[in-house]
Amino acid sequence: MVARNQSQKKTSLNKQYQFFSQQVVQWYLNHGRHDLPWRKKVTPYRIWVSEIMLQQTQVKTVIPYFKNFIKKFPSQKKLSVATEDQILAAWSGLGFYRRARNIYASKEIIKKEYGNKFPKEFHQIINLPGIGKSTTGAILSLAFLDPHPILDGNVKRVITRFLHKDLNSMKEAELWKLSSDLINRDDCFSYTQGIMDLGATICTPSKPSCSICPVSSQCLSAFKVRSLKKNKSASKKKVISMNLSLIQTKKSLLLAKNEDESIWKNLWLPFESVSLENYVQDFQLIATQNIKHELTHRRLNINLSTYMSSKESKIQTNQQYKWIKKDRIDEYGLPKPITKVIKEL
Ligand code: SF4
Repeated sequence: MVARNQSQKKTSLNKQYQFFSQQVVQWYLNHGRHDLPWRKKVTPYRIWVSEIMLQQTQVKTVIPYFKNFIKKFPSQKKLSVATEDQILAAWSGLGFYRRARNIYASKEIIKKEYGNKFPKEFHQIINLPGIGKSTTGAILSLAFLDPHPILDGNVKRVITRFLHKDLNSMKEAELWKLSSDLINRDDCFSYTQGIMDLGATICTPSKPSCSICPVSSQCLSAFKVRSLKKNKSASKKKVISMNLSLIQTKKSLLLAKNEDESIWKNLWLPFESVSLENYVQDFQLIATQNIKHELTHRRLNINLSTYMSSKESKIQTNQQYKWIKKDRIDEYGLPKPITKVIKEL
């Protein structure tokens, strides 16, 4: 009797899983965001770039950066000859620059070990810098139609709500198993895109739209999810203050490569004011300004002093620095708030 009950339970679970995976595919085919640039033309290279850009960044923010990146580096081969500076320049403004440095490190591996062909085995992809298990799953399912689970925040939310499970008390391994069990193996492309879209547009964190959700008829949490109040303490950001000095001539700017292990590692910045203490008396101070800039987890408070110099002077410093022509600034990776100020000069 117990065995019969268990087998009945398993059958109904299988049906529920099957329903979910079929509905997600059908919904994606009818209502998915097919016009996203990385979905219009699918190649492993484009999927890889889009998946890295989409880590920690919303779709609508990524779109113009993806288009611009692909315009500059349309293929793996074109990217293979890019310098880290050129990749950081194409990434400039998108933030989380570690991702751009990982793209650079990965393309070097792809060039040396795979002859500029994006690898298609799980162990090869997961060993590339900046790629975890979920991104590997997405690349395999989307670019090679090889079904593998993904598990980002959106997917965790959708699947645990659908089965009315407590996300906080579940182990990662259980969530991976669930995500794997739900995959539609006949159409892993539409399923993977579909579950991403469902989490981003319908089963959202605070106001799920259960009335138009394709899985609501069998969702064990449908219409029961209450709006979640935003956790105020979670939105508290760390404030980072900087004092920077920007030296310019009529045609060029003095910038230093930031080699600190900070958010802006390997990007070009004005010098920290303290490093130029012995030089600033040679230049004419023309402006001081305070720039506030919000990042996802940080609030930047930058005091920027701008000086005019009559010539491109040499300075004694341990840092790598350059006088960069103003009309060639787009060829260098600069953080967004700094680019903004420079363009306003
Ligand atoms: S019915 Fe509601 S809670 Fe369930 S998956 Fe859909 S949007 Fe989420």
